[in-house]
Amino acid sequence: MLDELRRIVTEVTRSSDLRSALDVIAHRVQNALQVDVCSVYVLTPAEPNLEAALVLQATEGLNPAGIGRVRLNLNEGLVGLVARRAEPVNLENAPDHPAFKYIQDIGEEYYHGFLGVPIIHRGEVLGVLVVQSRAQRRFSADQESFLLTLAAQLASGIRQAQVSGELIQTRIAPPGWEAAVTAQGLPGSPGVVFGTAVPVLDVVDLDSIPERPVESPASEWAVLSAAIDAVRNEFSQLKQDFSRAAGSTDEHILFDAFILMLSGGSLIDSMHERVMAGHSAGIALRDAVREHTAVFEQMADPYLRERAQDIRDLGNRILVKLQARTQGPRQWPERIVLIGHDLSASHLAEIPTDRLVGIVSSSGSGSSHLAILARALGIPAAMGVADLPLARLDGQEVVVDGYRGWLIVRPAGSYRQELLRLAREEAALTAELAALSQEPAQTPDGVRIGLHVNIGLLADMAPSRTVGAEGIGLYRTEVPFQIRKQFPGEAEQASIYREAMETFRDQPVVLRTLDVGGDKPLSYFPIKEDNPFLGWRGIRLVLDHPEIFLTQIRAMLRASIGLDNLGILLPMIGSIDELSTAREYIDQAISELREEGEPIAAPRIGVMIEVPSAVYQIDLIAEMVDFLSIGTNDLTQYILAIDRNNERVASRYDALHPAVLRAISEVVDAGHLLGREITVCGELAGDPMGAILLLGLGVDVLSMSAGSLPRIKWVIRRFSAADARQYLARALAARRPQDVRHMLYDALVERGLGGLVRAGG
Ligand code: PEP
Ligand code: MG
Repeated sequence: MLDELRRIVTEVTRSSDLRSALDVIAHRVQNALQVDVCSVYVLTPAEPNLEAALVLQATEGLNPAGIGRVRLNLNEGLVGLVARRAEPVNLENAPDHPAFKYIQDIGEEYYHGFLGVPIIHRGEVLGVLVVQSRAQRRFSADQESFLLTLAAQLASGIRQAQVSGELIQTRIAPPGWEAAVTAQGLPGSPGVVFGTAVPVLDVVDLDSIPERPVESPASEWAVLSAAIDAVRNEFSQLKQDFSRAAGSTDEHILFDAFILMLSGGSLIDSMHERVMAGHSAGIALRDAVREHTAVFEQMADPYLRERAQDIRDLGNRILVKLQARTQGPRQWPERIVLIGHDLSASHLAEIPTDRLVGIVSSSGSGSSHLAILARALGIPAAMGVADLPLARLDGQEVVVDGYRGWLIVRPAGSYRQELLRLAREEAALTAELAALSQEPAQTPDGVRIGLHVNIGLLADMAPSRTVGAEGIGLYRTEVPFQIRKQFPGEAEQASIYREAMETFRDQPVVLRTLDVGGDKPLSYFPIKEDNPFLGWRGIRLVLDHPEIFLTQIRAMLRASIGLDNLGILLPMIGSIDELSTAREYIDQAISELREEGEPIAAPRIGVMIEVPSAVYQIDLIAEMVDFLSIGTNDLTQYILAIDRNNERVASRYDALHPAVLRAISEVVDAGHLLGREITVCGELAGDPMGAILLLGLGVDVLSMSAGSLPRIKWVIRRFSAADARQYLARALAARRPQDVRHMLYDALVERGLGGLVRAGG
């Protein structure tokens, strides 16, 4: 049966359109399972005057005249039951089942054995695949998984056909069906825009480069380095375009990273070595790219895994030049929504960027460089929108909803009007937010709050300056450690930290000490544990390796010489002993450097409050430090006992849980009693709802990604601290996180800020 399955899957994958794929399935499954009937029902979504319905789209065995005509609503029949329950229904004698519905004219009355499986795409039921037999028969577990596997194959085809519009053009389009389709992904950059889809088709493929003999390595290298130079020049041009478009010279630092990579260093060296060893330019390029991407791909941190894509993308661009492919002149639409499978920042080089209004990528997430760039430029982006039929979207009208990570294709009628209204409001909002960059984050009743940024790579710095951040609230120093092949030394670290501290001279810069372990591994320091989040992580690891800790502290101190804006932040502190030992090492490093003659000013010392035990000893901890920084990401995970990275429990993970809020509130009260400055640096700080409550709590600094900062400033400027305190009191007394969300949502809408948390509808 496995072979048969493989054959069917291959045939389905090769089908040119959905209709033929459905026919292949119906026909081949009927044969393979020796059944009398195999049918496919596809769900057409509800429309204003039309209920959602499962429409028969293909059948072997039933009357084909029913195709496109037989419509079952979700409460009807066994097929409806499968869709409603989103699980298989396997019955020996279907007519005995209370949900059985006799459908006239398609000849179903003769069948007894029934097995229906849902066709599910990313949790959404798209249809039902059914087999039936005349005889009473119970299908085996093997047959059930066979059908489930095929249903999974069909799901992506159906999704693509819905998005491309293929389904509406067939005879099955229901009357009056407004043909808008929504493809869902992940939020990349907020905003709602209309535009014309411009797909980036993958014209090159590093993996299909053929081997060929090389006559002269020197001339081979000349060809390859010319291609590299051409790509680098393109990026330089792009960088200029972008600084013009963004109205600042800072924005393009992401491109600098690409330009740097192409100007020398290990990627280029590796290509050069390979060419000199006798490989062709293409093969040298391919293997160097593979070698470098492999390092990133092994990393558990999604942010770093994304960097593999950047390198692959650079490789593809060089390959385009190598192959001297030209796309020829093209007519660009006025408003471009760039859509592609593995889109990354360098694809922007292919289009006139002044016309770019939206970005949709079928891969990646909110932490991709592309999303970071989109946020910095204020361009809405949806990431990870799977199964996009790229070529067929070319030229279609689309809407990008970056709040929800949606791509809406062919909006029509009243839905289109509604989206247009949202897009207009959105444009007004963006203009208003941009005007705030130099304004203080101050409430109407005069309370001032510090808005700082969280950064990981130096590339994050430029967007941070543009949005008017007043300091770095959290530098995740493990990120530069993760992208290297070995522990960086004191001098190397010092130069990285120095750059951050110089960029924000005269403003506070908080460097967190190494927080590896958990979901942040170092490839050159592997740790195998059953429970990594409860294991050797953060401060626990470095206290067991003082040589690593001391080197880092010395580098931080050195970097601060003459600037004196350093704060050192200790992650994962769960006990007084950990804190006092860490402080001793810091004192040791200060004395050593002073003995070496360095003019070291004492840094401010702070502790991340992200472990429940620290919450319960907050009075003692606060006494020992200068400031506290609440890490709501981990604090939520440890208080609720819900893995912050596990999609199965993601819907239960909520930092607005009243239990988490109570913990935060205790920390703030105890810290303030001793006059300590309190920052919140977890994602809650960048969430407009979270910011209201943190304002109510009297938190001194909110630290967040640069993209969130303008919106949070807007919230602060619209909510008085007095009102925020009232919302806080209600949130602390709430029973469930949803209650807190609803209350805050209404509060935002009341002040006309609903646009910050959702794009309507
Ligand atoms: C946190 O836990 O809230 C935090 C800011 O740190 P990280 O997300 O890096 O663990
Ligand atoms: Mg943390």
